[in-house]
Amino acid sequence: MISMEHLKDTFKHKGKRRQLIEELAEMGIQDTKILDAFNAVPRHFFLDLAFDEQAYTNMAFQIGSGQTISHPFTVAFQTQLLELEKGMKVLEIGTGSGFQTCILCQLGARVYSIERHQPLHRSARRILDFFKFNASLFFGDGYKGNKVYAPYDRILVTCGAPDIPQELLQQLKVGGLMIIPVGEGAEQKMLKIQKTSEEAIQITEFGTFKFVPMLERTVK
Ligand code: SAH
Repeated sequence: MISMEHLKDTFKHKGKRRQLIEELAEMGIQDTKILDAFNAVPRHFFLDLAFDEQAYTNMAFQIGSGQTISHPFTVAFQTQLLELEKGMKVLEIGTGSGFQTCILCQLGARVYSIERHQPLHRSARRILDFFKFNASLFFGDGYKGNKVYAPYDRILVTCGAPDIPQELLQQLKVGGLMIIPVGEGAEQKMLKIQKTSEEAIQITEFGTFKFVPMLERTVK
């Protein structure tokens, strides 16, 4: 559980954040808007105080409910693949810590995000309120997406899916993009899926990643 008392951004945090951003740039994140968003959203705010010292290393950390915050590079890479433009409607599956959600908001997206663990859903709400980002957060099963606000310009899945969920594809606009790690085991292939017509998609693969698995709704 994240305590809200340590939400202080010191010179030390800022310095380490700068270093991480340089590292991300060297690793191939060229979009300066994304790098600026990483500067504007302090990652240590999303972590337990115990991880404060390491918040700006390229690592994943436990965030409770058996889940992890994604590696900074993974967040930056998925965000870059999204090819976002201001005002786009984005559906995120796996709110988790809310860090990725805040990055999307900072980039001007209208964000709808689904999390299946109630404690994570609640703490993400608190941190988004702290930043005054008004993303719509839902507790539920991401496999079903959210038909109410469909279709979406972009869909971002931040957990490893066994296959491409058809309901999510249906909720994607024609011309829209879905970024989703797909694979049954511990590793997944990062896929960029473009919906070229109501019936057709085009898939491009972008390397291997390790995500926590996409599971169906739990009541915890
Ligand atoms: N974007 C998050 C990543 C968290 S890890 C972050 O930056 O912190 C992936 C998250 O997906 C976990 O919180 C997990 O509980 C959630 N998840 C897994 N299966 C899901 C499903 N079917 N629907 C919604 N969320 C799911």
